[in-house]
Amino acid sequence: MKQIIWGGITLINDQFLTHWGVYIEGQVIIDVDRFENLKKRYPDTDIIGGENLLLIPGLVNSHDHGRVISPVGFNIDDSWLELWLLQLEKLPNIDPYLAASIEGITLLKSGVTTVSHSHNPRNWDNLYQEASDTIKGYQNAGIRVAFHPPIVDQNLLDYTNKDQVLSCLSPSLLQHFEKYQNTPPISNQDYFDICSQLFNNYHDTINHQVKIQVSPAGGQWCSDQLMIEAVEWAKKHNTKVQMHLLETQYQRQYAYECWGKSFVKHLEKLGVLGHWLTCAHMVWIDESDLSILANKNVKIVHNPSSNLRLRSGIAPIAKMLTNNISVGIGLDGLGLDDDQDFLREMRLAWTLINQPGMNSTTIKPEEIWAMATQKGVEITLGNNVNIGQLKKGNLADLVLIDYQQIPLRQRGFCHNSKLLRWLSKQQVKSVMVAGKWVIIDGQCQTLNEADLNQALADIIMSIKD
Ligand SMILES: [Zn+2]
Repeated sequence: MKQIIWGGITLINDQFLTHWGVYIEGQVIIDVDRFENLKKRYPDTDIIGGENLLLIPGLVNSHDHGRVISPVGFNIDDSWLELWLLQLEKLPNIDPYLAASIEGITLLKSGVTTVSHSHNPRNWDNLYQEASDTIKGYQNAGIRVAFHPPIVDQNLLDYTNKDQVLSCLSPSLLQHFEKYQNTPPISNQDYFDICSQLFNNYHDTINHQVKIQVSPAGGQWCSDQLMIEAVEWAKKHNTKVQMHLLETQYQRQYAYECWGKSFVKHLEKLGVLGHWLTCAHMVWIDESDLSILANKNVKIVHNPSSNLRLRSGIAPIAKMLTNNISVGIGLDGLGLDDDQDFLREMRLAWTLINQPGMNSTTIKPEEIWAMATQKGVEITLGNNVNIGQLKKGNLADLVLIDYQQIPLRQRGFCHNSKLLRWLSKQQVKSVMVAGKWVIIDGQCQTLNEADLNQALADIIMSIKD
């Protein structure tokens, strides 16, 4: 199918231009120019766009979990991470295909065309099938997914001295906490076998619809041997490793108590750091380690809402950017309003850079747009993937946003990157992935959203009853 898509404002090459557009054939962007020029060059072509629309590349949610429901709604209040994690078992068991398909649609309606899914297994014995169903849910919704099943093999209840913690507990509490000490009932070898099976069946190096990656889930939860094996597996398969790292102050402290040095320096010694590695959170990174990450080309995902809600803190994003580290943005399933509004998350990331005092670093909104688009692709899907910018030869992932729905009193005459101050998912109008419209006028084109939502509602109501 051939079409011209244009906006009153268009984000091209980090610039917000007036009346520009793209010409698309099939799933590829063939030309980029002023709308008037495209119309002359490609007559008799379908035209979609308008003066009121902002045209941007598809957004990339670089770290999430596809939980599809808010933990708060199931009496798991925001708390410090280590306590919060122990309560996640209270979440209802939702069919993985249903969860992923609704999550995919929700994100698409937020302008997200690629998501990084860090899986939380419901049943470890069934990990391959769960993973497979989850991937199919995202595929059928029409969103790209970087899927990484997790693995952990230590420190699930505490980080340092398990015996000391257990000796403080009464017999009844000891019984209650016993289950939290159990590591998953699959061996590391089983885990890598499942990753290989998923890789052979789903990893897509041509159209980049699905990427299979590995995830030693967190530095403190994984032995050195496991992290080394994960990196070896990723290098052998030319794919990526994603892990949570330095999310809380206690994780930083764990590293110093274990090895007398920072987590980053320990991972450097192990050979874990490299272009293959993306680390989520990194709130408690030592400033002196930023140059190591930059030299090793390690990528970072910023999760601003989650870090605030789980009392982790505020990651030093401005310092990461000034050290030339690639940083992306991830909702982590814990956006401010539990509504997976990626544009609001971008605004929060931008705003949290404003630290007290006149010497605080200023980051231009263009940098946040880059984190959510081209940098996000590099961080989530890997290098040399032709997605993330509206340019010739790239796959056509794009979003049309009705920015004139923002009240005039807010936006004034602003026609540039500062629109980030006001945009939210409510203004997202239409979304295209690989040349195919998946959302038109706010309506999902791929799956029956009403039926899926009804199925989810039935599950939730059955628990309530
Ligand atoms: Zn996470």
